[in-house]
Amino acid sequence: MSDLAASTISLLEELIRNACVGEGEVRNADTLERFFAGSGARVQRFEPEPGRVSIAFTVEGGPSEPLTLLGHTDVVAVDRPKWTVDPFAAEERDGRIYGRGATDMLYITAAMAAVTREVARAGKPSGTLTFVGCADEEARGGLGAGWLAEQNPAPFSWQNCLSEEGGSHLPVDGDALVVVVGEKGAAQRRLVVHGDAGHGSTPYGKELAVALIGEVAQRIAAIEPAVQRSDLWEGYVRAFRFDPATEHSLLDGHGYDSLGELARYSHAMSHLTIAPTVLRAGSSINVLPSTAWLELDIRPLPGQTQEEIDDMLREALGDLAPAVEIEHLITEDATVSTTDSSLYRAIVDTYAEFFPGAPVVPILSAGGSDLRFARRRGGVGYGFALHDRERTLGDVLDQLHSHDEYVDVRDVELTAQAYRSLVGRFLGV
Ligand SMILES: [Zn+2]
Repeated sequence: MSDLAASTISLLEELIRNACVGEGEVRNADTLERFFAGSGARVQRFEPEPGRVSIAFTVEGGPSEPLTLLGHTDVVAVDRPKWTVDPFAAEERDGRIYGRGATDMLYITAAMAAVTREVARAGKPSGTLTFVGCADEEARGGLGAGWLAEQNPAPFSWQNCLSEEGGSHLPVDGDALVVVVGEKGAAQRRLVVHGDAGHGSTPYGKELAVALIGEVAQRIAAIEPAVQRSDLWEGYVRAFRFDPATEHSLLDGHGYDSLGELARYSHAMSHLTIAPTVLRAGSSINVLPSTAWLELDIRPLPGQTQEEIDDMLREALGDLAPAVEIEHLITEDATVSTTDSSLYRAIVDTYAEFFPGAPVVPILSAGGSDLRFARRRGGVGYGFALHDRERTLGDVLDQLHSHDEYVDVRDVELTAQAYRSLVGRFLGV
């Protein structure tokens, strides 16, 4: 194993053991600062709230385009009884490293750090390289990359950014590799209805908030948004090289089952999705509640606006619409980067080095990443990693936030090598 791979793996294990579950990213920032000690990289720490530390390491370069690697250091919570290994021990077994965050995204964060340290020791790159260990990605970045982009954007460039995930394979003959070029937005809503308060023993003649919110939930669940045909969706479907009938039906938004394990993801990539997730009414069994509400996790595609979504909800509610208040919670438009950029071309060239001849397929992520902040600042952002041939996109998606999360050691090595190659290609070092 190369020095680069070995240092990536030992750093990954330490990041897992620090267990930065939704707080305490200062522990991973300290680990990273020790990891970079003596490398010559410039260190900057950012702490918008106590313990919520993001940290940047910069290798000053020449006047060419800069490159910024955004690796988050926080992880999501675990449901301990469902795990068969200690989620924070970073146990290595049968060629896998187990632990919360192993795939999402500490192996990439570790690879970014190891490559940046190697470049810092190697000499001056043609453009400036920065690696940022970002806090708070899993809670939408308000104390991490989002805070930096909005409150303190100057310490590093947002022009060319890489982050999670990418470089897994589509389950097709002859191989194909995916690059995440964009992500869906957020259009969270709370639908509130009112009813008559009163004693639970005398409901006669009362307007029941619970019955009303139940009807609202039925009508919302019946919404079937139309497929959105985009270049990304068409390129993705064509990459599978199905027979013409199957391809045609998928492009029209039908027959997702022919995509097997990728059916749910593929549906989300081509549709606005509306998931009812929180329902609340009442707190005492003998009191009629005067309000009830339903929360919706809605994820728009590029180009779909918040106004369109409210119109869609009101239309589905029909005659109930006047009785329903629609509150906006988190709202963020989808973001997508062009594939016509020097950084995208460097990704394609890097993949060709490891998997010659495999087509590269740009895709949209159904979830979020720190890259949207770069895109909003006018930069480009791509998900970049690299997996062994047998690791499909479905396999990687299955690991995100799962019980017994793991990453294959081979994928950690490949990702570190791929970052080293891409940084060399892009920054001439
Ligand atoms: Zn992540």
